[in-house]
Amino acid sequence: MTDAAGVPPAPEERAARLLERLAAGGASASQPGGASAGLPGGASETADADRIVLVRAPGRVNLIGEHTDYNEGLVLPVAIDREIWIALQPWDEAMVELTSLDLSRTASFPLTGLTPNPARTRSWIDYVAGTAWSMQEAGLPVRGFRGVLDSTVPVGSGLSSSAALEMASSWALAAPGTPRPDAAIMAAIAQRAENRYVGVNCGIMDQFASAAGRAGHALLIDCRANTFVPAPMPADLSVVVCDTGSPRRLDSSAYNTRRSECELGARLIAEREPGVRALRDVEPEMLARNREVLPEVVAMRCEHIVNEDVRVLATVEAMREGDREALGRLFAASHASLRDLFQVSSPELDAMVGIAVSVPGVVGARMTGAGFGGCTVNLVERGREEALREAVMARYPGMTGLRPSVYAVTAVDGAGPLPGYQGRIEGGAGPKRG
Ligand code: ADP
Ligand code: MG
Repeated sequence: MTDAAGVPPAPEERAARLLERLAAGGASASQPGGASAGLPGGASETADADRIVLVRAPGRVNLIGEHTDYNEGLVLPVAIDREIWIALQPWDEAMVELTSLDLSRTASFPLTGLTPNPARTRSWIDYVAGTAWSMQEAGLPVRGFRGVLDSTVPVGSGLSSSAALEMASSWALAAPGTPRPDAAIMAAIAQRAENRYVGVNCGIMDQFASAAGRAGHALLIDCRANTFVPAPMPADLSVVVCDTGSPRRLDSSAYNTRRSECELGARLIAEREPGVRALRDVEPEMLARNREVLPEVVAMRCEHIVNEDVRVLATVEAMREGDREALGRLFAASHASLRDLFQVSSPELDAMVGIAVSVPGVVGARMTGAGFGGCTVNLVERGREEALREAVMARYPGMTGLRPSVYAVTAVDGAGPLPGYQGRIEGGAGPKRG
């Protein structure tokens, strides 16, 4: 839900629209293949405003630390002001009925008897049902609801609309009055939903960032310990995301190949280096002295991961010091490593980074996300965001034949009830995030 220029609506306008659609019964008409729209227990009642709840969950962009999450390493994502919102009315029945205004689709599922089914076609509602399944598996009570959702997170661009959908769902589903586990645990529950129920083999970064985000901060996440430290963003730099307009083509088989190459590397090194469980445990010198036991491609993958972990920590340090030159170098090294060693970039991503680094005021540019398409992330001197947008709009379409999108984003808090609607949430909304 963005206007023609890709600008999200003001929060009040967005909330009003969602509440209106909820009162009107969700989708404007019943959808083929989905449940019919309408309020619980009847078609024509209006929503009981006192029982309405609004929840939100942000997408994320990763500043640096790519493909390190499943190697038990470090990542540095930012939860961004591109969000999925759900307006809902709790339902006494153990049923969920949800309308995605973006897809103009309504779907429903019962909360009882949910089970992962590998043959399932990954429907959007599976992210919601999977979250309900995973919460129940973790012993968390869930409630039924009827709701409508809208989103300003572009779908399938690598800004993690899927994790935003899971985290928003986890808040919508939470039974009132039950203490909520902390963000790290909720992230693991949502990741399990995506891995096991939806059937997408993702790491934990996306859900963690959406759950635990902190305004004005990136999150240094340790994907082994499942802990995070907020890292302040330099006040004089903006984060600008450039969407290449080419869908991610890192299909699950390419992703799984990279994962098994990394696992093989860790296993071969562990035969000579006791204590190595994952590439997280391998330092650059250790890799150098064991390189000869690794097949060349595996060595390249390992080199990327091992140095990327080092770059994540160096980036946190450079952000603290406001060292723009170091940030530029680290972003460039990460991009080159993903392109040449991990081999997950694309001509479009390379073109986008090439344009960005030629624009005065751009401090650093690199591909972000799993690769082969999707977005780049840029650190840009505040006030120079438009110059980057103009350069991309002027040059990128001619180079690729594709239509790019450019979003300046800000770091926001992680998922939760919408402030201003807190009073309308029955029972305890759970402990504050952090
Ligand atoms: P991303 O990089 O955006 O997370 P994924 O392929 O992991 O890409 O997840 C995208 C999927 O998440 C969509 O295909 C859809 O099933 C679901 N999804 C995301 N946003 C919405 C939305 N606004 N409405 C319905 N489903 C959505
Ligand atoms: Mg996703």
